[in-house]
Amino acid sequence: MHADFLIFPQWLLPVDAQDRELRDHAVAVADGRILAVLPAPEARRSITAARVHELPGHVLIPGLVNAHTHAAMTLMRGLADDLPLMTWLHDYIWPTETRRVDPRFVGDGSRLAVLEMLRGGVTCFNDMYFYPEVTAQVAADAGMRALIGMIVVDLPTGYADGADAYIAKGLALHAHYRGHPLIRIGFAPHSPYAVSDAPLERIRTLADELEVPVHIHLHETRDEVVASLRDHGARPLARLEALGLVGPGLVAAHMTQLDDAEIERLAAAGAHVVHCPESNLKLASGFCPVARLLAAGVNVALGTDGAASNNDLDLLAEMRTAALLAKGVAGSAAALPAAAALRMATLNGAHALGLEREIGSIEPGKAADLVALDLRDANTQPLYRAVSHLVYAAGRHQVRQVWVQGRQVIRDGAPTSLDQDAVIAAAQGWAQRLAPA
Ligand SMILES: [Zn+2]
Repeated sequence: MHADFLIFPQWLLPVDAQDRELRDHAVAVADGRILAVLPAPEARRSITAARVHELPGHVLIPGLVNAHTHAAMTLMRGLADDLPLMTWLHDYIWPTETRRVDPRFVGDGSRLAVLEMLRGGVTCFNDMYFYPEVTAQVAADAGMRALIGMIVVDLPTGYADGADAYIAKGLALHAHYRGHPLIRIGFAPHSPYAVSDAPLERIRTLADELEVPVHIHLHETRDEVVASLRDHGARPLARLEALGLVGPGLVAAHMTQLDDAEIERLAAAGAHVVHCPESNLKLASGFCPVARLLAAGVNVALGTDGAASNNDLDLLAEMRTAALLAKGVAGSAAALPAAAALRMATLNGAHALGLEREIGSIEPGKAADLVALDLRDANTQPLYRAVSHLVYAAGRHQVRQVWVQGRQVIRDGAPTSLDQDAVIAAAQGWAQRLAPA
């Protein structure tokens, strides 16, 4: 058998049904896909390859999936901290966005985000922001996989002057990327409080026709739920249910306010939840009941949210926070074990984005979206179980090699598809432009 390349990591975490931790195995890649996963001696005997990556001391994992973010908001990283969600949004983030967000902002911010994410082992992200055509282009140019949202809000912005215009622009973007190997386009109405019933109904009809996910902020805070009861006589989830939006295509970010009946209904509908623990902690939004959701059979993925509320796009750290927070919230150290946290950051994310047949685990036939971390550092020694160090001890500096669809986009810790110095210099220029007066 012939492969384009072979990888020999010391440990392999394929995120398979048994959560196996394999030693001395190899992964063979051909035409951007995983050709075989097999014991290293057998690979050396039976597979010829143009290139061989020997990775002693490394663990190989599936590329991480950041299932909820706003890439361009990296430019507002650290602009306003230590404020509750609505003050932060109304007094800082939205005024800055109204004044300053344009295609150049989105380009510079998205490039910074893509650089940060690839260097941190994230190979796929689910984005919601203005000028999504710019973010899509940035991701495609950098060889990163993404589900880019057709953003919809009621309010006019520089990008579009009302819900119909947002939808029209989104549909043009969807048509443009049809069949693209890395970029998919889905709907991303911002939230039930920012989008009224009529556009939400149109989105449901169009999402069904196009068979694309609907990504939305939902039950992020108690205030959101209280306001919905006042304005609509229903909790936001119930309102979306009445509009026909709660089904296997729903990707609901945050979900900190959930009662038992709602968890049962999410499970029955096959809807997906994206847990964003660090953003929820920083904005004091509440705690997503992750252990209860998983026990009920709801697919829970992991997201960083935007860098303005996190303040990084570090999915390794998010895994650790999710695992620790779930234990605290459930009052049980057995809640969300390390392997389950890794699953949330990989296969569950792929499932939420409708990409579970394509990515999320290391199995023959799937795309070769792979990340190798070097565990031969002080903070990850001695080593008993690779998955323990990956979730509880490793840092992004240990991400050394990253492939997306078989293309190496990070080599020895450095990007191959982005000019790192230029990306950082462009971002730095925004600090003067955006600084509050
Ligand atoms: Zn968000």
